[in-house]
Amino acid sequence: MSLQTKQTVFSLEIFPPKPDSDKSSIYRTLDGLSGISPDFISVTYGAGGSNNGAETIRIASDIVSRYGFNSMAHLPCVGLSRERAGEILESLEERGITGVLALRGDIPADSGDISGDFPHASDLISFIRENFPSLSIFAACYPEVHPESANSQEDIGWLAHKVNCGADCLITQFFLDNRHFYDFRDKARSSGISVPIEAGIMPVTNKKQIERMVKICKVELPAKFVRVLDRYGDCPEALRDAGIAYAADQITDLIAEGVDGIHLYTMNSPYTACKIFDAIHSML
Ligand code: FAD
Repeated sequence: MSLQTKQTVFSLEIFPPKPDSDKSSIYRTLDGLSGISPDFISVTYGAGGSNNGAETIRIASDIVSRYGFNSMAHLPCVGLSRERAGEILESLEERGITGVLALRGDIPADSGDISGDFPHASDLISFIRENFPSLSIFAACYPEVHPESANSQEDIGWLAHKVNCGADCLITQFFLDNRHFYDFRDKARSSGISVPIEAGIMPVTNKKQIERMVKICKVELPAKFVRVLDRYGDCPEALRDAGIAYAADQITDLIAEGVDGIHLYTMNSPYTACKIFDAIHSML
C-alpha cells in the first residue's frame, strides 16, 4: 500500500459494530461506502465499537475479499505480548491486509495498567518493521499535541522517533481548525519528518458526541464551529448538513494547501461520507 503515487490519498475509517448489535450491519455500511472507491479503508480496534480484535481482522479481511479494496487494521499495543502481536500480524498478512496502524491505545482508566511487551507505539513499530517487512506501517499523530505530552516539541520529538522506527505514513487526530494542522505539519517537516501526513477529518453530526470527543481528545472547538452548534445543535438534520458542509470546507482548504491525504472518520455513516466525497472528489 503506497501513498506516494497519487496526488491526494482519500481513505476511510470504520469501526466494528458493538458486541450486542447486529454484526451484519457493517456490510450495509460497506455497501454504502463502496461507491467512493477509497484508497483504503481502516478498521478500528477497541475504539468506538467492539473490543474484540477478531472482529477488526474479520472486517478488514472482508474489505479485501468481498469489496476488493485495500484495508488497514488498527492495532493498539497496550497489554499486548510479542507472541500475540506476531499471531495477529501473521493473520493480517495471510488475509491480504497490507497495512497496519500501530498504536499504543489508551491506558485503562480504572487500572492504569500498561503491562505488555510494547510500552509505546514506537516499540510495536520496530517489532513490525523487523518481523513483517511487507506490511505498510501507519502511526498516529496529534496536531493539537497528545494529551500526555508536555508540549508540541516533546510530542514531535517522539513522533520523529516513531518514524525512525519504521512508520511509513502518519494519520492525524481529527481537528476542526486547519491552522492547527498547518502549524503541526511545518513543525514536523522542520524536525526532519518527511513521510506523508494524512489529515484526519471528522464530520460533526451530533452535538453530544462532539462535546465528548473534544473533551477526551483535547481538540479546540473554533468559534465558527461553536456558532454552528449553537444554531443547529437541537435540529439533527440541520446539524448533519452543517457538519457535512464544514468538513467539505476543511477538506477543500487542505487540498488547496497540498495535503498528502484525507482520512475520513466515517462514524459508519455512508450518507455523510458519500455527501462529503461528492463535494470534493473532483479535487483529489
Ligand atoms: P504513542 O505514540 O505511544 O504516544 C503516547 C504518548 O507518549 C504521547 O504523548 C507521545 O508523545 C509519548 N511517547 C511516544 N513514544 C514515546 C517513548 N518511546 N517514550 C516516552 N514517551 C513516548 N485507539 C484505540 O484503542 N484503537 C484504535 O483503533 C485507535 N485508532 C486511532 C486512530 C487514529 C488516527 C488516532 C490519531 C488515534 C487512534 N487511537 C485508537 C487512539 C490512540 O490509541 C491514543 O491516542 C493513545 O493515547 C496514543 O496512541 P499513540 O499510538 O499515539 O501512542
